[in-house]
Amino acid sequence: MKQTVDKLKAKIVEISRRLYQRGLVAGAGGNVSVRIPDSSCILVTPSGVCKGYLNLSDIIKVDLDGKIIEGRLKPTSETPMHTEIYKVRRDVNAVVHAHPPFSTGFACARVPLNSPIFPEVIAMIGEVAMVEYATPGTKELAMKVAEAARNHDALLLANHGTITLGASLEQAYQRTEVLEEFAKILLVSTLLGGPKPLSSEEVRRIRGLDAEKYRLEYVKHAD
Ligand SMILES: [Zn+2]
Repeated sequence: MKQTVDKLKAKIVEISRRLYQRGLVAGAGGNVSVRIPDSSCILVTPSGVCKGYLNLSDIIKVDLDGKIIEGRLKPTSETPMHTEIYKVRRDVNAVVHAHPPFSTGFACARVPLNSPIFPEVIAMIGEVAMVEYATPGTKELAMKVAEAARNHDALLLANHGTITLGASLEQAYQRTEVLEEFAKILLVSTLLGGPKPLSSEEVRRIRGLDAEKYRLEYVKHAD
């Protein structure tokens, strides 16, 4: 078990560094968590520490009530957001919260990231939810996030940032990267006269490549 936990901690350190190096978080922003298999505990990143320079010993183990089980630092103030997601999504093993500038720009303008224009997003992410604003670190925000996470793997938090979920930390992280790429593409195509959406038939076809991954709501949106 210790070996598994150490491996997961190392992956959190690696993904946190990638988030920082790619400019998806800045300062001490963003947070990452992973579910510890066969337990009711998760590993989370600490509060107030730059994600580019974490050590294995900085990662904290908490239970799903947010109680510290192991670790010398304070867990992220956004821990409730993470624990509430794990409670409603048994298939989710990792959560990434970041402040990617382009996606967060959409979140601050409260413009949804939902146009069916980019197959990669249709394939990897599905529909992106927009979560109403609530003060960061509050139970109110955690409950709104958990509600949206029931049916979505990617969330925009109004005036705040992004959350992506995954069966693995690598998958959750890649969804953040792809979401940010999509925000850039959507912005550029808007500047160039507006994106031309894919037909609902094509969206269905892409979904058909791996029906499990895609969400019905997305097809509805495309019609
Ligand atoms: Zn945040």
